[in-house]
Amino acid sequence: MASQRVSNFGTTIFTEMSRLAQSIGAVNLGQGFPDFDGPDVVRDAAIDAIRGGVNQYAITTGALALRQAIAAHALRFYGQVIDPMTQVTVTSGATEAIFDAMMAFVDPGDEVVLFEPFYDSYQACVQMAGGVAKYVRLRPPDAAHLTWWFDEAELAAAFSSKTSVVMVNTPNNPTGKVFTSDELKVIGALAKKHDAVIVSDEVYEHLVFEPAKFVRPATVSELGERTLTISSGGKSFSFTGWKVGWALGPAALVSAVQKAHQWVTFAVAAPLQAAMAKALTLPDSYFAQFQRDYVAKRDFLAKALSVAKLPVLRCDGAYFLIADVSGTGHTDDLSYSRWLVNEKKVASIPASIFFSDASRPVHAKHFVRFAFCKTEATLQEAARRLAPTAS
Ligand code: PMP
Ligand code: GLN
Repeated sequence: MASQRVSNFGTTIFTEMSRLAQSIGAVNLGQGFPDFDGPDVVRDAAIDAIRGGVNQYAITTGALALRQAIAAHALRFYGQVIDPMTQVTVTSGATEAIFDAMMAFVDPGDEVVLFEPFYDSYQACVQMAGGVAKYVRLRPPDAAHLTWWFDEAELAAAFSSKTSVVMVNTPNNPTGKVFTSDELKVIGALAKKHDAVIVSDEVYEHLVFEPAKFVRPATVSELGERTLTISSGGKSFSFTGWKVGWALGPAALVSAVQKAHQWVTFAVAAPLQAAMAKALTLPDSYFAQFQRDYVAKRDFLAKALSVAKLPVLRCDGAYFLIADVSGTGHTDDLSYSRWLVNEKKVASIPASIFFSDASRPVHAKHFVRFAFCKTEATLQEAARRLAPTAS
């Protein structure tokens, strides 16, 4: 029978919504994956690698060319010096790196600080590691705050002598928050005081919209010495199905992650690693255009949601918009999302799934998440269906 470790897990809402969207022909703005492919040159590199015989196990830490490309990318964009031999491990998506990190740093009974809303796998991984999650609220923008924010005293109170990890996700899923260096310094000082590791999930590192500026936590003052950075090529290159991710940082942290990784997946799809090495060396112009494309998508969907009388919250990064559905007459986000997919044939994600059980009924029930990583045609169709007059 199922172990206690997994017995309370249901099917994720992403899987559920995508299945439903497909079966009823809904426009899927739920699960965050692009409905278009990344650059041809990267696809070709994968095909060439397969045809060229790169088809056996990659080495467990990751193909050397990819580790070198990851290190070069960190230097190019963040001035971060990373040794590809000792400071990088390639994983099956960021998802595996997050799991490995929890296995690597959390003993049963240890505490892990999570900002909520949080990406759902964090809580599940803390549970599988036998850890205890301590939640800190990210509060929505208000009269005094332009963006989502947290209370420093509440954060400080979430730390204790049992804290082994604080999880940061910037740009943040689902809120679109991009943490500032001042905020990161506050987190870093507490992590240092309690000797905790900062695990920083940066899968949306190339999806940051001006005037917001992305700051890699590991590059802020002394945070580098205790930060494990996690990212993946899924979002930055629009190949979420490839599941090529990585963890980088101080050799001691990466070595602990590598110890878990060798028993979780051992190695990652070899030809896709070759192609991801190519992707990471794309010129700066690729990344600049990528951001421009996404600003246009964000603005288009934000307008469509406003026309549908759904106020949207500020979004500085990632590819999701949070809409406030409190004016729709529905009791909560789940009821609204269900109604929207069944009646209007537009799938979304009720944001309460990104909150802890205790917060869900209080802080989450008015928020619904819409993904804008979609083609213009898909977004236009969504806008048509969302419009108040459409049936
Ligand atoms: N972290 C965050 C914040 C995400 O939104 C996602 C999924 N889209 C992941 C991690 C998982 O990334 P991957 O697909 O590379 O496993
Ligand atoms: N990260 C994606 C999202 O937030 C979902 C990935 C998944 O389904 N595991 O939509």
